[in-house]
Amino acid sequence: MISVDEALAIILERVQPLPAMRVDVGAAALGLVLTEAAVCDLDSPPFAKAMMDGYAVRSGEGAERVVIEEVLAGQVPRKIVGPGQATHIMTGAPMPAGADAVVMVERTELLADGRVRILDEPASGKNVLAQGAEMKAGETIFDAGVRLRPEVVGVLAGMGKSQVKAHPRPTIAVVPTGDEIVEVWEKPGPGQIRNSNGRMLLAQAARAGGAPRALGIARDNEPQLRALISEALEFDVVVLSGGVSAGKVDLVPAVLASLGVEALVHKVRMKPGKPMYFGIKARDGKPPTLVFGLPGNPVSSYVCFELFARPALRKAMGLPPRAFWVKAALAADATYKTDRPTYHPARLELVANGWTVRAVPWLGSPDLRGVTAGNALMLFPEGEGVHRAGDTIDVLLVDELL
Ligand code: AMP
Ligand code: MG
Repeated sequence: MISVDEALAIILERVQPLPAMRVDVGAAALGLVLTEAAVCDLDSPPFAKAMMDGYAVRSGEGAERVVIEEVLAGQVPRKIVGPGQATHIMTGAPMPAGADAVVMVERTELLADGRVRILDEPASGKNVLAQGAEMKAGETIFDAGVRLRPEVVGVLAGMGKSQVKAHPRPTIAVVPTGDEIVEVWEKPGPGQIRNSNGRMLLAQAARAGGAPRALGIARDNEPQLRALISEALEFDVVVLSGGVSAGKVDLVPAVLASLGVEALVHKVRMKPGKPMYFGIKARDGKPPTLVFGLPGNPVSSYVCFELFARPALRKAMGLPPRAFWVKAALAADATYKTDRPTYHPARLELVANGWTVRAVPWLGSPDLRGVTAGNALMLFPEGEGVHRAGDTIDVLLVDELL
């Protein structure tokens, strides 16, 4: 049986970043990666501007000035500031010709006769943002590969770019399988259980940056599996749950094969998630569809998604695939005996001297509730391990440090 690292290498080798598309610069594009450089068309600021409410003056003159004009943001000064003169100016307004500094209003005194007294004589350039200080016309501000974070969105907006080219979100079809599964709004009959995996995987796919869609539950028979999986193969990524182990109606790998999906991974030396399946199907003009057949136990589905599907989605979006692994110190002694490397739900925290991690109580692969107490998965190697508080262990952070 191959290792998790071997399986992930096989998967990532087959993932290509999705072809660039035009996307609107805004909230919906958050996290996408630029495929083209962004070049500025205008200087920013486009004119020398006042950074304080106060008086625009010529530096190095006497304490009193005659106020000749008032300029608000959005207005354009008409008068040139001559010797002994000042313009009352607001933050964001263009500097009048002749002036080279702004004295903040708090450091002035308005006198009765339309004059102003300057309490601090400013140095040249004080409180003035020179034209083009932030960005110059023709300058490359972002290279391809930059990720659309809120501040990047803001700068692009300031550059007048309402659309950019980026790797799109992978479209993801989520297909839970199983005769025993009922929809969330149904009351399970004898032998039935609710479909927790469907919604969980949709949420994981969204958290990973993908664009997921639920295609409905496939039953454990060939015609139904074929119908839903054929539809799913139109997507960039297919995420199935259940039907990949050794049971009598675990038909997913055979149906995938009959639909032309090439199996590249089936069974991985890990816990939970051993039956994990991965395959690809070629498409015209696009990278192949990636097919993840995740074992049906909820925590197996959860862990396999985080370990295999999430890095693949990141690569498809032009991101480094393995961004969330840290080495953390065990918070408490732990003796752990396992016949396969085990990804145990855990809580990772950042404390004064670095990362620290503790296992959360967990009953094994059906116990999804136990997972909710953590924010991470800690890796216990196979064998009988006696781990001491302070020992270093590998941890996969799956969410924020809440
Ligand atoms: P399977 O991988 O199909 O053998 O399923 C393994 C276990 O996971 C069984 O106990 C299933 O009932 C359970 N299971 C499968 N699919 C789901 C699902 N969508 N939601 C919750 N549990 C599931
Ligand atoms: Mg099943």
